[in-house]
Amino acid sequence: MASDMDIMYLPGVGPKRAELLRKELNVSTVGELLRLYPFRYIDKSRFVRICDARPDMAYIQLKAKVARVELHDSKRMSVWISDGSGEMETVFFKGIKWMHERLKPGTEWIFFGKPQTFNGRINMVHPEVDPVTAAKAAQQPGTDSVLQPGIPTPKASMTGVYNSTERLKNAGITGKVMNKIMEAAIEKGIAMEQESLPEYIMKQYGLVPLRYALRNIHFPQDMTSLEKSKYRLKFEELFFLQLSLLKQKYVRSRDIHGIHMPKVGEAFNRCYEALPFPLTGAQKRVITEIRNDMKSGQQMNRLLQGDVGSGKTMVAVLTALIAIGNGYQACIMAPTEVLAQQHFKNIQKFLAPTGVKSALLTGSTKTSERREVHAGLADGSIGIIVGTHALLEDVVMFQNLGLAIIDEQHRFGVEQRSKLWKKSSCGAAPHVLVMTATPIPRTLAMTLYGDLDVSVIDELPPGRKPVQTIHATEGKRPQLYNFMRQEIAKGRQVFIVYPLINETEKLDYQSLEAGAEEIMTKFPFPQYKTAVVHGKQLNDVKKFNMDAFAAGRADILVATSVIEVGVDVPNASVMVIESAERFGLSQLHQLRGRVGRGSEKSYCVLMTGHKLSKESKHRIELMCATENGFELAEEDMKMRGPGDLEGTQQSGLPISLNIASLAKDGLILNAARDAAEAVLKEDPTLSLLKNQLLRNELIKDKYKIKDYSKIS
Ligand code: ADP
Ligand code: MG
Repeated sequence: MASDMDIMYLPGVGPKRAELLRKELNVSTVGELLRLYPFRYIDKSRFVRICDARPDMAYIQLKAKVARVELHDSKRMSVWISDGSGEMETVFFKGIKWMHERLKPGTEWIFFGKPQTFNGRINMVHPEVDPVTAAKAAQQPGTDSVLQPGIPTPKASMTGVYNSTERLKNAGITGKVMNKIMEAAIEKGIAMEQESLPEYIMKQYGLVPLRYALRNIHFPQDMTSLEKSKYRLKFEELFFLQLSLLKQKYVRSRDIHGIHMPKVGEAFNRCYEALPFPLTGAQKRVITEIRNDMKSGQQMNRLLQGDVGSGKTMVAVLTALIAIGNGYQACIMAPTEVLAQQHFKNIQKFLAPTGVKSALLTGSTKTSERREVHAGLADGSIGIIVGTHALLEDVVMFQNLGLAIIDEQHRFGVEQRSKLWKKSSCGAAPHVLVMTATPIPRTLAMTLYGDLDVSVIDELPPGRKPVQTIHATEGKRPQLYNFMRQEIAKGRQVFIVYPLINETEKLDYQSLEAGAEEIMTKFPFPQYKTAVVHGKQLNDVKKFNMDAFAAGRADILVATSVIEVGVDVPNASVMVIESAERFGLSQLHQLRGRVGRGSEKSYCVLMTGHKLSKESKHRIELMCATENGFELAEEDMKMRGPGDLEGTQQSGLPISLNIASLAKDGLILNAARDAAEAVLKEDPTLSLLKNQLLRNELIKDKYKIKDYSKIS
């Protein structure tokens, strides 16, 4: 239990400030206030020498004597201070009279502020000024009395800095005041904070008690106690998140009856034997994982991650054939018509030796054909259906749908998935395999899909040549065109992609159109053939142009990022990405994955402007340095935070994390996940006495996780 005392009753707060704090920082109880952690700390135990002060330093503390005071007028005062290593100007605009009376030349003070450069010299504007005695006390490290509530907090050596707002500052709630309020909150509220983790878990994972952590996160005695406290609070946060996700998974596997598929069946074997290549180790491993799920008697809910070109289609086909072999139907759903068509086309050659009947159902399937497909699904004569959202229409009914494979999961909502669920007349929950080519960092997958099992294909089929990635700016364009001519002369094809960040943005189309025109001038017909594809074209036009490129009737495809997913053109060896700085890492990676699919050496050229932000530069460098999608995804998460990663935008994290970071706290997450797994393994319903605290904690609203990743 956390303290639910209204912050209004804290000394130094009162009704007005309480209202403001509630509005600005969303805290109304002392317990909530205590969980408003500093975003950084000021080490008040150390002094910086004036000669070492730099404008890029955060807040610093100087111990210096007043050398001289210049009163410019009643509105501005310069106080020159010196600590023997150098001299610095400090400037005051407010409270001048008060300062003037105290900052007499020769007196020594602690100055605390942010150094900056002004007129080529370093100064500080409005530093906090403290008498030297107080700071001396601050240097005395405390004892471990912090463990006992009720005993006053020893003077901390570091001070927390909290998020603030203009309104808070205007109301006089400065950093110093905030520290005072926190001090009061600890004094009044800490005794009411009750431990949320059972003793045995704290012991096993070396966690400090909650009260210790709360005190030290606000007023760290030293670095070690701060680190221990942070670890404990992060662990707790990640642990309960994992515990609730895993518990959901447990409840589902207990309550939902899965379809028992004990054998692989003949169709699988025939397809397997006819494969033109051996499966990669990763493909084999994943198929074994899937096979184990399907014969377990429980419903499979598995996420399959694999980079573009890693051979997921193969895995999908073999998985579908297991369902067939056990007397069930399977469906493969794709997010776009182009992708559905491509899947359908790709799987034909693998299905040929099996005699299994498959069909395609999309928005543009003709009415007569559609009726036939509907009938075939209802009477069971169609074994595998590939399609788009059209599969979700009410008229579509299956005889016995046993497996749903969903490609590029994030484009399907929960509702749509639950619709699939109801389509089978056999009444059981179909197994679900979600495939994604967007690599998600492991920590994010564990959180976003915490209740799914995750398989990863982390190995590309052999013989794939690496894609050479080159960064170029405008000046290199003539060379780029020459290079393209050489490749085209060798019979290769070239993609040129323009950013289309916003579908409605005129500018994007203008640059695409201008670019296409330039290409057609520099690569004139009939020697060169150029196709153009973008989102504003009619579907038929788009398809016509895309097909022309896919079939080799065009040498160059100028496109917006619509080609990001889909489009398998093994003969294309060059991917030029225009204004590459405008794309995110995962998008760049997806685009690059369009080449390097054939046997020829391939290239990805990232065209950018001359001036790049630090971040864009970093992205481009990373792209040139690695082809590993998971590595790039990790970096992307570090740079942009998990919330902005592709695939997480629509869904968002299941709960917002207060202190832990998925980008930085992977190790803590591992430990927390292990701990949660161990607890549930022994006590799935959390009914043991020793887990009572956990059960109480999970009942809280914040752990009522949004159900978006649940397939059923
Ligand atoms: P993904 O869907 O993961 O992007 P695909 O399934 O389309 O990848 O596979 C990419 C290409 O690699 C296809 O041409 C496929 O036939 C081929 N392929 C798949 N598995 C293997 C393998 N084990 N050995 C060789 N080639 C493979
Ligand atoms: Mg694919």
